[in-house]
Amino acid sequence: MDYAAPRPVDPLWYREDGYWLRVSCECGHAVSKPVALWIKARRLRREMAFYELQARLRCIWCGRRAATIDVSRRI
Ligand SMILES: [Zn+2]
Repeated sequence: MDYAAPRPVDPLWYREDGYWLRVSCECGHAVSKPVALWIKARRLRREMAFYELQARLRCIWCGRRAATIDVSRRI
């Protein structure tokens, strides 16, 4: 098991450096950008956990919540 793998309970700051967050909706809309940019663009608290951020997100195409999030290291 990879203990360094991103988890939903990780705070944003823990994945701020070198990680990308991809948010995708069932309707097909997806946004992928560096974690640091998500924080900046949305003025998020860096102590916030990823699952908390996920709960706040609303799709700009269809308005649905409960998007799928994926955090991965930038290669
Ligand atoms: Zn959508």
